[in-house]
Amino acid sequence: MAGEFLKDRRVLPIILVMALGYSGFLPFIMVSFLFALSCSKPAPSPLPKPAALVDVSADVLPGNLYLSEGDQEAAFDSSQGSRFLGSLLNDAGIPPDLARRIEDAAEGPSFILDLLACLSGDPFLWILVDKAHPLPDGYAPADLVSLSVGSYEVNRSGHRLRQAAADSLEEMAAAARAEGVTLIASSAYRSYEYQVEVYGRNVREMGREAADRESARPGYSQHQLGLVVDFGAQDGSIGDHFAQTPAGRWMAANASGFGWSLSFPQGMEAVTGYRWESWHYRYVGRDLAAFIDAYFDGIQQYALQFIHEWVKRSGD
Ligand SMILES: [Zn+2]
Repeated sequence: MAGEFLKDRRVLPIILVMALGYSGFLPFIMVSFLFALSCSKPAPSPLPKPAALVDVSADVLPGNLYLSEGDQEAAFDSSQGSRFLGSLLNDAGIPPDLARRIEDAAEGPSFILDLLACLSGDPFLWILVDKAHPLPDGYAPADLVSLSVGSYEVNRSGHRLRQAAADSLEEMAAAARAEGVTLIASSAYRSYEYQVEVYGRNVREMGREAADRESARPGYSQHQLGLVVDFGAQDGSIGDHFAQTPAGRWMAANASGFGWSLSFPQGMEAVTGYRWESWHYRYVGRDLAAFIDAYFDGIQQYALQFIHEWVKRSGD
């Protein structure tokens, strides 16, 4: 403490004054007192620190648009910003009525902050994987873990998920179980090679057109992410009947709160490319699941198309 105190150069003149005063050198006292006054002026107060700034303009937005937490200024209050957002929503294929609501929401700062929260996570949570957007060639996740029976059940052994998805599945299943509902994982990670088999079998059994409505071509399946679970009905089977089971109803009501999003909702085949699959949930994390619900009517495909377009422009 004393060492710290003595290191402060401003205290030296004061010590000098005290020492000389005690030893009777009065003329020195006056001189030293004035010296002390001149030196012990408080240091100039530092400039006020800016709030944490998020520079969204440098990479992704035209013009100078800075956002700070708590900043009440609109995120897209410049006409340039809203033109940018409008054309982005259009290119992302967001229908006009939904796009207008998103533009309204984006006038406050939370939309952009929510978006940036999603983008700060693992990119495979938001990467667009659909009929037009395959995974990177040869992609296989590095952190797959085997699903062992926990709070959920499995229809057979050998299912795998990425660690974060597996952890979340356990947490979600425990919550379901507490309400008397059992979740059954009936399909999870599928490698490229396995999807070759699945798709090939479906084509043989139902023809290419029907197979394309409910199974992805190899390289184009969300299952290859290691973040997807097909949930089974009470007997573990996968199909439309899942929607009417307790597990199906529980998932529809609660999954997004745990970071799971229904990939192919009812009536959205023209948008997702797949018929309604009440059983197929993708783990996207809590941030993105909340973002999808808050701004995109719960339609994962729209949110991912939007993010895909946003990230594409960021890289331009
Ligand atoms: Zn599936």
